[in-house]
Amino acid sequence: MKEIITIRDKQFELFIEQEVIEQGIKRIAKQINSDLAGKNPIFLAVLNGAFMFAGELMKEVSVPSEITFVRLASYHGTTTTNKVQEVLGLNESIEGRLVVIVEDIVDSGNTMVSLVEELKKLQPEAVKIATLLFKPAALRQKLHLDYVALEIPNDFIVGYGLDYDGYGRNLKDIYKVK
Ligand code: 5GP
Ligand code: MG
Repeated sequence: MKEIITIRDKQFELFIEQEVIEQGIKRIAKQINSDLAGKNPIFLAVLNGAFMFAGELMKEVSVPSEITFVRLASYHGTTTTNKVQEVLGLNESIEGRLVVIVEDIVDSGNTMVSLVEELKKLQPEAVKIATLLFKPAALRQKLHLDYVALEIPNDFIVGYGLDYDGYGRNLKDIYKVK
């Protein structure tokens, strides 16, 4: 029997244990360390969901780098794209820098596509994406993910930074909805 927990009105079952999550993070950290040596990257972690992933990832990153934290505020723009992401809290200049977005989960890909679009206006050298989780079956955008710690099926999950209605972010393992 898998461990079952209740968050608000829903039941969740244990899905991915901390050890497995952290193995995935260590694997992408190694790729980052070899790909980005000498590149002086700036990591841009997306709050709230990526806080735990960012902490664990950065402990394994050994290339000289900076990290900063942003929030996204979505609003409906007048452009053809459905959603526009305003980037809040980015005080550092990213002009000419190699930016690595640190995201909790890529589902449809809409959020990442519009964030990359916003960041490119600030003229970085390049923008790469590191995500803790990826649901390939849910992707609706043409999007290249540079670093994926774990691929998962199309279930709603919580834990390791991800929430259900604000709760469950502190869980050290990942659970999926029953
Ligand atoms: P996308 O724009 O790729 O469709 O969605 C990305 C955002 O949706 C994530 O940053 C996250 O906030 C939310 N999201 C997508 N799937 C899940 C999930 O399974 N659990 C939780 N807690 N959030 C999710
Ligand atoms: Mg997110």
